[in-house]
Amino acid sequence: MPEQGGQAGDSTYEVELFGETVEYAVGVSSDATEPRIDVDINGVRVVLPVDSDKDAERLMQENANWVLRKKEKYEEYEKEAPDRVFEEGEEFPYKGDSYELDVADIVASQVDGNYIRLPRSQVDNSDIQEVLQEFYRDRAREFFEVKVEEYSDELDVEYESVSIRNQRTRWGSCSAKKNLSFNWRLIMAPPEVAEYVVVHELAHLVEKNHTKKFWLTVKDLMPDYKDHANWLDENSTQLIFTVEDL
Ligand SMILES: [Zn+2]
Repeated sequence: MPEQGGQAGDSTYEVELFGETVEYAVGVSSDATEPRIDVDINGVRVVLPVDSDKDAERLMQENANWVLRKKEKYEEYEKEAPDRVFEEGEEFPYKGDSYELDVADIVASQVDGNYIRLPRSQVDNSDIQEVLQEFYRDRAREFFEVKVEEYSDELDVEYESVSIRNQRTRWGSCSAKKNLSFNWRLIMAPPEVAEYVVVHELAHLVEKNHTKKFWLTVKDLMPDYKDHANWLDENSTQLIFTVEDL
């Protein structure tokens, strides 16, 4: 992971924006065609094309409002992020409920009462985080395959494939070739919320854009879809698996 404020090799500077001291890094990228400012969980970074004569500090001043707003947004997001500890006895979400992690002498991961139990042999071979992520991915695959089948029947549409992705910020997608993909982190959310993402992506097989027709198709399949879409908007930080998701 890059260091706070930028990437290895960057120089770090400070600038005063509306009375607030903001630290930022400056880097040069051969991919950049225009000077730009990246603001994310790693901090603020000015990226300049090779041979650019743009003054980084001036660029920061010109975009002061935007930089401060984005920075605040990320700091807020970081505060809301759950503090995950990958140890036995810790609580993790699964299908909208909270479960306690347990490592046991079993062959395959399983949900048992209030526990998510992981096989000791697998944990010994890697670690709890990896085995838990594998459990989530497997359950997500199962869930999405079943739900896509169900809803595509109901909607009377054909699709090519269903895949489970590690998209971090994207919940689902539907390609022009009718390949559907879903973020495995959705298996942590209430099932209706994950189902809403299925309905949303399948509705794109009927209507590509978010038109009135698109939303009517969604509503037809799932009359209370707005509640689930709102849940996703408001609770996306709960679906963060590790700080690298930020
Ligand atoms: Zn969409």
